[in-house]
Amino acid sequence: MQKDLTKFSLIILCAGLVGFLSGFTLLTMLVTAIGIIAWQAFKLNELYRWTIKPEENSMPESSGQTYLLHREIHREREKNINRKRQLNSLLDQFRQAISVLPDAIVLIDNVGKIEWANSNAKSVLGINWPDDASVRFGDLIRYPEVNRMLKHNASQTEGGVLVNSIIDNSRTINFKCVRYSDKLRMVIARDVSRLIKVNQMHTEFVANVSHELKTPLTVLRGYLEIMEGSNDLDKKFIKPLEQMNLQSTRMQLIVNDLLYLAKLENTNSIPKHELIDVTSIVNLIIETIQPLIEEKHHKLELDIDYSIKINGAQTELHSAFSNLISNAIHYTPENGLIRIRWRQVGDKAEFSVKDNGLGIAAHHIDRLTQRFYRADTDRSRENGGTGLGLAIVKHVLQRHDAELEINSTEGKGTEFICAFPESNFQSQLDENKNFK
Ligand code: ATP
Ligand code: MG
Repeated sequence: MQKDLTKFSLIILCAGLVGFLSGFTLLTMLVTAIGIIAWQAFKLNELYRWTIKPEENSMPESSGQTYLLHREIHREREKNINRKRQLNSLLDQFRQAISVLPDAIVLIDNVGKIEWANSNAKSVLGINWPDDASVRFGDLIRYPEVNRMLKHNASQTEGGVLVNSIIDNSRTINFKCVRYSDKLRMVIARDVSRLIKVNQMHTEFVANVSHELKTPLTVLRGYLEIMEGSNDLDKKFIKPLEQMNLQSTRMQLIVNDLLYLAKLENTNSIPKHELIDVTSIVNLIIETIQPLIEEKHHKLELDIDYSIKINGAQTELHSAFSNLISNAIHYTPENGLIRIRWRQVGDKAEFSVKDNGLGIAAHHIDRLTQRFYRADTDRSRENGGTGLGLAIVKHVLQRHDAELEINSTEGKGTEFICAFPESNFQSQLDENKNFK
């Protein structure tokens, strides 16, 4: 800047000197200054043209301040070009990576138009890229559940949506949708036919084994009973027989629970919808479990809204609620306080069982509903638990569109909450409501 100023001042001074000699000092200086400004304007215009269309205009020659400006712009432009190249190569790599994924990946914009699809989109969904560019996803994929998911913007729907493929009816496709920018969503469609088949085989295997075990177990228990009732039983066999009886009872409980779980897994919907009075279920459970409550000197607190009824299956709900109540009784040391609640909270109806017992460590909570998972294996075995109760609770609630929430603090107690959606319960104040 300093250099430029000195240079222009010198030029104007020299022009002034020439002007002085010719008798037009001021005029010559003025004309020279205008000339310098015009030259600068010309150079700036050249720079502007080169900045806008560098490919059409060569880099203008310049000096001083304009040269520095040129150089900075040039440097920034080179940096941008490199960055763009890197981004493009990253994008290419990313596209190559997702194009070899076994899943079909389709990018759609906010109105559902296809922006990009990988090659597997053709075999899984019949979407051809780039032929189907800008076509609406919903016009090509005619699965109402999937379109509903996309319409409601239900991104990251936990398990996604399962549909039978229109292309091949024997295939099951799992659709998920993830929003990954303001304008784009990624639809991931996976062929899960094999997985479903393996799961089915697994469930059938467990059900068959459990079923096959039933008869030998009944025979064994029959003989054990006869032996225990025998008058001439040698004393040394009394203890072993007691143990055998205890263990065979446990085995029978496991077999029954496994068969019940298999039955829940094999049928998607509950057998018979009826309006169920939760109060009568709770009373029935308490009646059965009363001796144990008395034995452990627990105090029971009931807070039941008699006016709310569930639309569901009586036996299934009985077995779920009964497991939660018996867990509270088992896993609470003597003189505990157990509160059973059934009430409306916001737009949900909640059945909850709270105790001030042992509590469960946080790292167990997520796994409690897995089969045979026990937080405290020894204590659970001591109580005769099979570790299948909460798996049954989870399945029953799923079949009633309800959710299970577990709140627990170790040493302080646990609360299990079953939250039923509005569509699945009815309050007497609202008797004319129609269920879906
Ligand atoms: P069962 O199949 O006979 O019910 P279980 O009670 O051991 O056997 P679940 O009901 O599935 O099995 O419970 C799983 C585990 O969760 C239990 O073993 C226990 O460790 C823990 N648990 C469940 N309820 C409570 C509770 N109220 N307080 C503390 N721990 C609990
Ligand atoms: Mg249990």
